[in-house]
Amino acid sequence: MSNSQVLQFSYEFFPPRTPIMTRRLWRAVGQLERLNPLFFSMTYGALGSAQQISIDTAIAMHEESPVPVAAHLTCAEATRDEIDALARKLHHAGIDRIVALRGDSSVQARPGNAYHSAAELVEGLRKIADFDISVAAYPEVHPQASSAAADLQNLKLKLDAGANRAITQFFFDADCFLRFRDRANRIGIEKPVIPGILPIHNFDKVRTFSQRCGASLPRSYQGLFESVEHDQQAQYRLSVDLAVDLCERLAREGVEQFHLYTLNQTDMCLDISLALGSNVSPLRISSAA
Ligand SMILES: Cc1cc2nc3c(=O)[nH]c(=O)nc-3n(C[C@H](O)[C@H](O)[C@H](O)COP(=O)(O)OP(=O)(O)OC[C@H]3O[C@@H](n4cnc5c(N)ncnc54)[C@H](O)[C@@H]3O)c2cc1C
Repeated sequence: MSNSQVLQFSYEFFPPRTPIMTRRLWRAVGQLERLNPLFFSMTYGALGSAQQISIDTAIAMHEESPVPVAAHLTCAEATRDEIDALARKLHHAGIDRIVALRGDSSVQARPGNAYHSAAELVEGLRKIADFDISVAAYPEVHPQASSAAADLQNLKLKLDAGANRAITQFFFDADCFLRFRDRANRIGIEKPVIPGILPIHNFDKVRTFSQRCGASLPRSYQGLFESVEHDQQAQYRLSVDLAVDLCERLAREGVEQFHLYTLNQTDMCLDISLALGSNVSPLRISSAA
């Protein structure tokens, strides 16, 4: 990481389901917006009511925060018409950034006239408005991919269909991302591939979640977290240090943008971003009477 390198961050949130979670989300937004991030993103829930909360919260964030907002959209369980209507709603509300995803379906058959993949969704969104579109990438290969090469070709398809960048699934090994970026370059992917960074708020939960997504935890992590098992502050410090080390290693290889999975908890993301050189802006004074 050179002294002149300026690192930029985006932060991902999920839709709050309770009043306490809602308060926590807005606190997080208020704290992280002072770092002048590139954008906030709001994930799209798998269930009906969560989907409505996702869209409503993304629009509220767009209205309340000076930070650009990207709304995630998944197409696995909806018709094209339903997705198109949501995209138009977001566009009319002023949101011009979408994270376009296939999502995971809990139903066997897809609805008729559906988008069957994220690549098809990107093509559809391009016809609706001049959205800035991000898509998902998998340094450790999507669990359903037939091969690493097919997975990478699928990423190229999404970018060639008009996506502006890819954001990766979280990973913990810098080399894994760097090899993935090299392989992407070799097949002609030139658009930015942004590393997704997951701070480890809870080691056991992250271990379980990683197994589900096909992301591997370095062997050394188990011992490191066991050694601070009874000391919450040391656990916190360890998690921040590991994320900062990972980002610094990537920054030395030319990475300048990072997407942080906040899990709607600010402290760790704030400390990681500050350690990597982010500056805090003064508090905004509302012009409202
Ligand atoms: C940054 C990021 C944000 C995310 N946000 C959300 C979110 O908000 N909500 C949510 O529910 N999920 C989210 N996810 C998870 C995502 O929805 C799942 O990983 C899903 O299983 C795949 O979505 P995709 O967009 O990558 O799908 P796609 O790119 O369409 O493909 C996924 C897999 O299927 C294979 N594939 C695609 N098309 C074909 C084909 N025609 N033939 C054969 N194989 C094919 C691909 O190779 C790939 O392995 C996110 C993931 C990431 C990395």
